[in-house]
Amino acid sequence: MSVTTEKAEKALKAQQVIDLLGEKLNRQIVGSLVACVHCGLCTNACHYVLANPGDVTYAPAYKADRIRKIFKRHYDWTGRVLPRWVGAASVNSEEDLEELKDIVFGKCTNCRRCTINCPMGVDYATFNRMARGLLVSVGIMPEGVAVVSKDQWEIGNQMGVLKEDYLDTLEWMEEELQEELEDPSVKIPVDSYDCEIVYSINPREVKYDPRSIADAAKIFHVAGESWTMPSEGWDMTNFGLFSGDDALGGSVAQRLYESVEELRGRKLVISECGHGYRSTRCEGPNWAKQDVPFVMESSVLTMLRYIKEGRIKVDKTRNPEPVTFHDSCNNARSCGLFEEPRELLKLVCMDFREMYPNRAENYCCTGGGGAMSMAEYTPRRLKSAAIKARQLEETGADFVVTSCHNCVDGLTDLIRHYKLPMKVTQLVNLVANALVIEEKVSVPVEVPEVPEAVPAEVPEPVEAVPVAMGAEGEEMHLVGRRILVADDEPDQLEFLCAVLEDNGATVFRATTGDEVLEMVRAEKPDVLTLDLHMPGRDVGEVFELLRKDPDLEDLKICIITGKPELRRLIYERSVRPPEGYVDKPVDEKRLLLNVRKVLEVVHHEA
Ligand code: SF4
Ligand code: SF4
Repeated sequence: MSVTTEKAEKALKAQQVIDLLGEKLNRQIVGSLVACVHCGLCTNACHYVLANPGDVTYAPAYKADRIRKIFKRHYDWTGRVLPRWVGAASVNSEEDLEELKDIVFGKCTNCRRCTINCPMGVDYATFNRMARGLLVSVGIMPEGVAVVSKDQWEIGNQMGVLKEDYLDTLEWMEEELQEELEDPSVKIPVDSYDCEIVYSINPREVKYDPRSIADAAKIFHVAGESWTMPSEGWDMTNFGLFSGDDALGGSVAQRLYESVEELRGRKLVISECGHGYRSTRCEGPNWAKQDVPFVMESSVLTMLRYIKEGRIKVDKTRNPEPVTFHDSCNNARSCGLFEEPRELLKLVCMDFREMYPNRAENYCCTGGGGAMSMAEYTPRRLKSAAIKARQLEETGADFVVTSCHNCVDGLTDLIRHYKLPMKVTQLVNLVANALVIEEKVSVPVEVPEVPEAVPAEVPEPVEAVPVAMGAEGEEMHLVGRRILVADDEPDQLEFLCAVLEDNGATVFRATTGDEVLEMVRAEKPDVLTLDLHMPGRDVGEVFELLRKDPDLEDLKICIITGKPELRRLIYERSVRPPEGYVDKPVDEKRLLLNVRKVLEVVHHEA
């Protein structure tokens, strides 16, 4: 290419950047572009500034002005009339575009710490991302950004993990788990329909951290969850958030939403990843321009809920080492996940120590904003990590816990660089380690013997009671089991009773709280399925009375409710929690799965 042609191409790209900037302007971005009064209050909020004292080129307001000057020159009347006076200037050379690339990709992790320290509400990180998108649209970006974006566009995940490798890893982890739990029935279900939860992960887990997949599977299994993982569209990370490419962001988010919809999942659970959570739950619907008809939740909330509802039990003495918590910028500052991870940590660890500052004021791990994929900026990144290293060291903790795979990499790198005596882990690993797995006993199948000879007084031969078969041909061991179904909705009551009877159980019915007490004492069922909303005596009180009755030590209780908020009526009582619960609407498969699981629980006296 001749020098003249190359120059012309650069000029064309510069013009495209200017034109596209005009299309990207909206109230939020223009507000941030015009509101800065250059007070400098944001300066020391930035970890790059703290690591490079005296170097003004790292100050958020200085960096923002490199983008702001283009806006002023082309889209603000002051800059068009008095460009020099207001510092307006265009981009028209290769050097201009390269300088912009160095700032927006190499001197900011889009952590938003300066944003919350700005009295004028300037959100520099938002228009820094926008500027990245402008450059990406004309092909100007660090090589790592180009490679990762290409993998996510073409292979469907940002680490280029092939489908067979992903499925092999799930199979491998399933085998590991079966061995660990000595239970060949433990599964990592793939592409199961109509599950409560579709679980999506970061491809980093497949490539470098498969144990996190097994740990999550262990937790789902012990909680008796109906869950699955999709074989396609399983990556919840989204490089569009880092590159500023909204089209990529929309395409990736849509792929994941479609896989949940195809599997008819009720809830999408996102494994511990800050940018994955933010882009999937918060930004994705806007990028994809679609409404999402299911609930999206961080796995941190899922695990916390399991403990609160008594679906899993944990023993914090299994995690005795001092731990601290690093707030991922995306989870905390951008999505407000501050307290839940701390609540969970305190339940599963003996010695939790805060790092200061924390929550919204926490410093970036310095690997955020896609920084880990841009090798050319590594020395700059590690230098800026000095403040984070100091924060970590001051806690004296052995482990730093974070709910973000990106932060795991950023922190691991800086811990190695600054030679800190510390390791990085995630909540899923700690919860799995603390999990108390109650001993299971096989539930005997009581099949009446078929008499060899027909007694004279019995006119017809006695048929052997068959072991009922489930929808997928599995044996349903409810023969000989006595189950009291308590529900005041006639249709629901009939449905539950029919399913249990079809599977061999002897079923009794109750429609009020008082009837439950009466029937339990009279019929001594093995299991009570208890609707939380019934007339008569308060169901929470009924539950407590049953739990305190020494004659009913062996009674297993499975809560059934369509109102999750009512569960606290049960779980906040100082008696043994229920052995299981099922959300309404109930389907046959989940009911049977949960009743079988409840029957298998063995209690140990403290
Ligand atoms: S704190 Fe806000 S107004 Fe002050 S310099 Fe920073 S961005 Fe500008
Ligand atoms: S977003 Fe974070 S990295 Fe970027 S300028 Fe602000 S404080 Fe610095």
